[in-house]
Amino acid sequence: MTTMPEAAAPGAAPKNDDVLVEVKDLQMYFPVSSGILFQRTVANVKAVDGVSFTVKRGETLGLVGESGCGKTTTGRCILQLYKPTGGQVIFDGKDLTKMNTKQMRGMRREMQVIFQDPYSSLNPRMTAGNIIGEPLIVHGLVKSKEEYREKVADLLQNVGLNPYMADRFPHEFSGGQRQRIGVARALSVSPSFIVADEPVSALDVSIQAQIINLLEELQEQFNLTYLFIAHDLSVVRHISDRVGVMYLGHMVEMAERNEIYRNPVHPYTKALLSAVPIPDPVLDAQRERVLLTGEVPSPLNPPSGCVFHPRCPAANDSCSQTLPELREVEPDHHAACLLATGY
Ligand code: SF4
Repeated sequence: MTTMPEAAAPGAAPKNDDVLVEVKDLQMYFPVSSGILFQRTVANVKAVDGVSFTVKRGETLGLVGESGCGKTTTGRCILQLYKPTGGQVIFDGKDLTKMNTKQMRGMRREMQVIFQDPYSSLNPRMTAGNIIGEPLIVHGLVKSKEEYREKVADLLQNVGLNPYMADRFPHEFSGGQRQRIGVARALSVSPSFIVADEPVSALDVSIQAQIINLLEELQEQFNLTYLFIAHDLSVVRHISDRVGVMYLGHMVEMAERNEIYRNPVHPYTKALLSAVPIPDPVLDAQRERVLLTGEVPSPLNPPSGCVFHPRCPAANDSCSQTLPELREVEPDHHAACLLATGY
């Protein structure tokens, strides 16, 4: 278990009213079992290990990191699709980790998810209209067939599709259009919070911008709050108000969007930014390069001290001994690095 400061989560808003989601010291360990007759836990995969942050109402928090860093698991723990091993998820003042199944059912309408792969996340046997309208029936939000049809038509229009497309099946749509169907389904129950889990990663670059623009328009129109998960800093740049960077189950840096791109502090964030292409060749030649060696270690057996130390170009002897806490390095800019936070 990692040590996290007792203080308010990084990026905490001054008034609680400003915060929609608060994640406190979140842990998600997946047990690894052994034995044929009597299965016993022999180890834990520490997918998320002591992560704390807040998401303010109406903002987009971008969560980035390489695959396996725990960002998707964090999103699923917030939605309670995984029951966290430890920590709290407070949504609109209510602790979701203490709710039973019935209480949680009442909260589901408030929180929705948009999945990465629009090809596999839509049921190929259902029409677009039924995919979008199903949650309306599940949550009892329509009283008649007429109302159902009207709502589905409105939702299709909201995401830039034509209502006559309601009778088509997923295979009759392009990748971008399928993702629009996924967005409409998430919107159907009028949520306040959406976890967008790599929503554009499976799409062509030309289509990515259209979906990101659509999400921004819908955020304004419906006063939505987003947790936007991506593995690439260039994707979250446009849409995010703040950005959190995860590595091997830990939050290693979090700051306002422009601050993190202008003044990255953690060596891992610097390395991720080094990999983002810059169109201007002069600027590209001038910038600092941080090249990472080796692979991300296994979360089954994470390194001691700072989990990034085996790959960190700035590591010193204390880095393998002490786990750095996420601390404020500038106003509203937090980093978990012994060098940056002056231990
Ligand atoms: Fe690198 Fe040490 Fe900072 Fe970790 S604590 S990021 S190993 S310099």
